Amino acid sequence: MRDDHSTFLSAALGAGADCLIFRGNQLLVDAAGGPPSVWRDYLAAVAPLRVIPTGGGPGEACFVAEVAREAEAPRDHEFRHLKGLLDTLPRALRERAVRSLELLEFDRAHQYCGACGSMTILKPDMIARVCTNDACAREHFPRVSPVVIMAVERGPEILLGRSPHFAPGLYSTLAGFVDAGESAEDAVQREVFEETGLHVRNLRYVSSQPWPFPHALMLGYRAEYAGGEIVCAVDEIEDARFFHVDHLPPVFPMKYAMASVLLDDFCKRHGRPGVL
Ligand SMILES: [Zn+2]
Repeated sequence: MRDDHSTFLSAALGAGADCLIFRGNQLLVDAAGGPPSVWRDYLAAVAPLRVIPTGGGPGEACFVAEVAREAEAPRDHEFRHLKGLLDTLPRALRERAVRSLELLEFDRAHQYCGACGSMTILKPDMIARVCTNDACAREHFPRVSPVVIMAVERGPEILLGRSPHFAPGLYSTLAGFVDAGESAEDAVQREVFEETGLHVRNLRYVSSQPWPFPHALMLGYRAEYAGGEIVCAVDEIEDARFFHVDHLPPVFPMKYAMASVLLDDFCKRHGRPGVL
């Protein structure tokens, strides 16, 4: 473990501090899927790979630690993939876990300066890493990758598609990364056209949501169908079609997912029960 991680480990074990513990994308929880009661003894004994501060409110000192892939959970606890916990963790803990996982990824991927190759050190007050080469001194910040995800609507119908890697029968809203130098609105137009050959208009921003696998920011939009015939992008979209609000297919069974938020908004605007 690096010196700065050792310093943060001591601080995380100090009185009043709190620390989440990850193994890869898996969060340590108790048997009921809640916060672990034994994290302090476990952290003191387990020799984590890294420990970093994640901020916190006044008087709080919050940290996140990562343990090795082969580390075992303590008795009556388990490591569970964060995706499977997003619907059940209390909101404050979920937000903290999402942020912590993104900061772990930042720490893993930015040990060296991308401009000159020198080592970087953490600036905890800013959650940034700074290059130790004085001639460079570049600051690096956590990466956030914007992704647009959109409900394309045609009256009481919504466009849903499925990619070849989805579970059989499952559909979702279209989505894609925003390109360098592109606006989110242009990305919506481009992604819908590339994936289905359709044109859209009257874009409306709905809401956003972090998706830390590894560092996406989902930007939810709705848009009106403006023209074109569906032609699915080869290898990307296996099937795409408009579904009537009364005949929706199975969708991702995760309430936290932005696709569920968009679908819920669509159903409620058409006087149907929501899906959340
Ligand atoms: Zn540098």
